[in-house]
Order: sequence, then structure tokens, then C-alpha cells
Amino acid sequence: MPTKTTKKTAAVAASRSAEAESALKELFVDELKDIYWAEKHLATALPKMIKGATSADLKQTITTHLEETKNQVTRLESVFASINEKAAAKKCLAMEGLLKEATELLEDTDKGTEVRDVAIISAAQKVEHYEIASYGTLRTLAGTLGYSEAQSLLDETLAEEKNADSLLTQVAENYVNEAAAAEIAE
Ligand code: FE
Ligand code: ZN
Ligand code: FE
Ligand code: FE
Repeated sequence: MPTKTTKKTAAVAASRSAEAESALKELFVDELKDIYWAEKHLATALPKMIKGATSADLKQTITTHLEETKNQVTRLESVFASINEKAAAKKCLAMEGLLKEATELLEDTDKGTEVRDVAIISAAQKVEHYEIASYGTLRTLAGTLGYSEAQSLLDETLAEEKNADSLLTQVAENYVNEAAAAEIAE
């Protein structure tokens, strides 16, 4: 319902209505379900990227992150438990789309080429950036709602996602982009 806009002060924010509080909690739980679906789906898709990759570095980076991803699924179950909610997944259209694009890239590039590795890195980093945005929002919402255990669990995952993203950048910079340029020059 539309209400007259008032100047926002710390006092106003602190005295958020019970109604607003429960709407915020509902959003938090919905977003948790979204990322829970996304992580589970990602765990089934990463093996295809590992299989499709050529560089040992890239294979290793994604393999490590696959293990982290499985652990993140379990960690999300702890987040649900910490706020007395049943763990449930709700289809994440964004992750579904990102992974469809990843499949397309694998179909459109040739096996054993560095160009395919660049494509895999690109797809994987898009996924990591989506996750970083999601966990960034979730950990902040958890803090706002006073869910400190949930917040620290979500912070752990956020750090892993940022680390995965920067490792992928390193793989790209150290090795794959150069090799792809050499292939093009051949
Ligand atoms: Fe993840
Ligand atoms: Zn999502
Ligand atoms: Fe989503
Ligand atoms: Fe990730």
C-alpha cells in the first residue's frame, strides 16, 4: 500500500514494522531457495565443463570448485536449519540460462582447442559473478534480519565464490588466452 514518503533516519530503519520484517524474511528465504537450486544444478553441470576442458590448470580449477560447490549445497542446508526453515529448492531461471549458454559454447567450439577453454572460462566466470551477487545480497539480508549464524555461513561461501572467480582469471591470464592467440595466428 502506498504511504507518504518520509525522511529516512536510522531511527526509522531500526523501527521497521513487523510487516516489513516478515516481507524481508520471505524474500531472504525465497532467495535461499533460488541459490540452493542453482548450486545443486551447477554441481551436475560442472563435470561437463571439466570433461570439455583441455588445459590441466583449468580442469583442476573447476574440479576443486566442484568439490566446493557440493559443500556449498550442504552449507545452505545448515543456513536453512539455522533459521528453522526446511531446505527447499526453487528453480533459478538465471542459473538455468547461464548453464544453457555454457552447453551451447561447448557445442560451438572444437574439442581440444584453447578457444574452447576460453569459452569455458567465460561461462564459468558468468556463473561465479551471479553467485557472488546472490551471496552478497543474502549475507547482507541475513545481517539485517539478525541471523548471525546464517550470515557467517553465507560469508564463507561468498569468499569461496570470489576465490573461484579470481582463480579462473589467473588461468585465463597465465595460459589460455595466450595459447588461443597463438592458434589464431597459425
Ligand atoms: Fe557456488
Ligand atoms: Zn539464482
Ligand atoms: Fe535466480
Ligand atoms: Fe561457484
